[in-house]
Amino acid sequence: MLPAMRRWTIWPVLLAMAFAVQAAELQHEIRVPGIPDVRQEIRFPDLPGYRTLVCDLHTHTVFSDGHVWPPVRIREAWRQGLHVLAITDHIEYRPHKEDVPRGYDRSPVLAAGEAATRDILLIRGAEITRDTPPGHFNALFVKDLAALEHEDLLEVFRRANAQDAFVFWNHPGWQGAERGKWLEFHTTVYENKWLHGIEICNNECYYQQAHQWAIEKDLTLIGTSDVHEPELRRKNTADDHRTVTLVLAKERTADGLKEALRAGRTIVWWRGRLIGREQWLRPFFEACVEVQPPHHRIKNAVFLHVRNRCEADIRLENTGKVGPKEIVLPAGTVSLLRIAAADPNKPMKLQYTATNFLIAPEKGLPVTFDIPGVQQ
Ligand code: ZN
Repeated sequence: MLPAMRRWTIWPVLLAMAFAVQAAELQHEIRVPGIPDVRQEIRFPDLPGYRTLVCDLHTHTVFSDGHVWPPVRIREAWRQGLHVLAITDHIEYRPHKEDVPRGYDRSPVLAAGEAATRDILLIRGAEITRDTPPGHFNALFVKDLAALEHEDLLEVFRRANAQDAFVFWNHPGWQGAERGKWLEFHTTVYENKWLHGIEICNNECYYQQAHQWAIEKDLTLIGTSDVHEPELRRKNTADDHRTVTLVLAKERTADGLKEALRAGRTIVWWRGRLIGREQWLRPFFEACVEVQPPHHRIKNAVFLHVRNRCEADIRLENTGKVGPKEIVLPAGTVSLLRIAAADPNKPMKLQYTATNFLIAPEKGLPVTFDIPGVQQ
């Protein structure tokens, strides 16, 4: 036995060690080793009356064919500056079910605590996974995911919609003999108003035909990562970013998100492009780009600043007679423009196409900048 003095002096040391172990355990619980636990924000502007929510609406965990535990998906989303994440494990394809045998709602249940801690809006969903054609479909906002297990695909659509789900067609150009074909099945679910959106972008892929259908049939444009592996990006940049949907929502809640998705207020951020309906892409562009009045005029030119408030480089091609032929506004910067002018005191109209703001397949957004003259 230790002498009385030594017994008393050793207690603080033991207590300190116990706290240190506990702190280390806590830290281990919330951190991915080697990756700093900080959030790198994704900055896109809000529109008047709407918040721009950065959403990934298609992801997988070990509960289907993904390779990460559900709360890790939340940590990845938080670190990368997302606001909304849907976990959409496959209903019919669960290759790890011998090892992870629990029910369909287990992944969102396990992720819920981490989502609350990090203020990520977590959406319950599932991927309805049939042969292609007719393909795979995501159903979001589904309370009873087990109800989606049924042989008859039409019945699955009916059940998802009975729960007021938002349903979209995944990677419509992925595989199968009739890939990229709109079939009778799609017409049936579309006419029943059971299909509300379509992925025009899935991870690295863009489906031009799906983009055209979305415009013709007024389906909501969706872009997702469909991530299965660990998402290792530390930060999203203009050149290397997750494929996401920017949803213009009246509020940052599940109901707010659903309302915006149903109303089609989305813009897809895919490989440096922003793809959306002109109705929303135009005000979004105007919120991203601020052209300041000239701060300096010389005999044959004016100088002015242009701010780009978004995470994408903005590419402009001249369609008029005034201004540089091509302009690139790097993400999150202010550019200095020199505009040649016969009379630098006169107002000018610059006409461009924003080539990476797509309002239809291969169709950039036409934009005009009015440059004020000198008041006489
Ligand atoms: Zn998937």
